[in-house]
Amino acid sequence: MNRNRSRELFARAKSKVPGGVNSPVRAFGGVGGDPVFFVSGNGPWLTDEDGNRYVDYVASWGPMLFGHSNPKLVAAVTEQASKSMGFGAPTELEIRMAEKISALMPSLERVRMVSSGTEAAMSAIRLARGFTARDLILKFSGCYHGHSDSLLSKAGSGLLTFGIPNCPGIPNDIAKLTLTLPFNDISALEKLFKENPQRIACVIVEPVAGNMGCVIPHQGYLECLREVTRRDGALLIFDEVITGFRLASGGAQSLFGVTPDLTTLGKIIGGGLPVGAFGGRQDVMAHIAPDGPVYQAGTLSGNPLAMAAGLAALEQINPEIYPALEEQTRALADGLTYAARSAGFTVACNQVCGMFSLFFGVDAVNNFDDVMRADAGIYRKFFHKMLDAGVYLAPSAYEVGFLSTSHTAETTALTLKAAEKALHEIKEVV
Ligand SMILES: *Cc1c(COP(=O)(O)O)cnc(C)c1O
Repeated sequence: MNRNRSRELFARAKSKVPGGVNSPVRAFGGVGGDPVFFVSGNGPWLTDEDGNRYVDYVASWGPMLFGHSNPKLVAAVTEQASKSMGFGAPTELEIRMAEKISALMPSLERVRMVSSGTEAAMSAIRLARGFTARDLILKFSGCYHGHSDSLLSKAGSGLLTFGIPNCPGIPNDIAKLTLTLPFNDISALEKLFKENPQRIACVIVEPVAGNMGCVIPHQGYLECLREVTRRDGALLIFDEVITGFRLASGGAQSLFGVTPDLTTLGKIIGGGLPVGAFGGRQDVMAHIAPDGPVYQAGTLSGNPLAMAAGLAALEQINPEIYPALEEQTRALADGLTYAARSAGFTVACNQVCGMFSLFFGVDAVNNFDDVMRADAGIYRKFFHKMLDAGVYLAPSAYEVGFLSTSHTAETTALTLKAAEKALHEIKEVV
């Protein structure tokens, strides 16, 4: 497969853009080689600058729940663009967005729109600290909540791909206020709260971790987070930037039946445009300016173009879309597992509705340490063989694959056929 134009563009990009990309994970640092430059997408398909076609499992890192160029989104954005791109004044679209989010996820009694998941998580943390008058926060190793100073300790996503455990530029006085624990470890959680009674403002967690690959919470784990935080007076924040409206029409909180105090959203709720949101208990949200003193603002927050795109996505969400998405994800995950084992590999494939991860060299992955034991070298080879066969997987062993409602049995069959061939070729070389 010829990707000359992508190669030329990447060389040109590097002379003006740091690393040639505007977000590190796009640079193929985790798999080597040059990133692919795309020109268009349709449903589950992408077309690159050289005219090659790929089945897409990156989905713009999660937002494309309905595939690319979804006609309702395109129509909504086009119509709004012809009216105005924004006023910096309130619009009815923002009310409809908040009403829609609140209807789908009733724990969000109040919703504040922002422009990225980073902003959502950063603001939710500030609110939790302001509300509780406590400074410490707790996150879990391998979870990622955007790139604000408080949330980069032992973070997943690009920090994992590029091997950056602690980021220079964050003062130690700030970093030390962020406590970290392993995901899925109840006794470590109880011990930490026992040692720091009434000192932790909030616990922030991805209810299904999606930034160290896909890691599923053990049964009872999220319930335990809820119980421990409630007992201590700390707030529980679910970062549903990925899981929100991917796993179920009410997000992970409805799937697992655990209600957080605050929730952060992003990705899917923008339909592909830059959007985030945070919301939750009315009494907590009342502390946000202008009602309260916890300051948070944004020139482009609630931007009408982004609201139109997000609403067009959320209006297509209903409980009926998830069984088929789940079925397609399971078929793909089972098929990949079967193909890998048939070729003689040990693998773990974690999956939940619309997201999956294939880990080589391990038979179970339940936390960050397990992820670290997986063989990223085999993933790297697998990634490139799949890419050349027209399957665009996440360019990192630590990022999940995403499906959309536009993926079909046909794209799954094509993917599995490519995987079978790739895995046999890799095995022969090994
Ligand atoms: C992507 C992501 C973020 C950050 O969102 P941005 O829009 O990239 O700032 C935060 N939390 C989680 C769980 C994410 O996956």
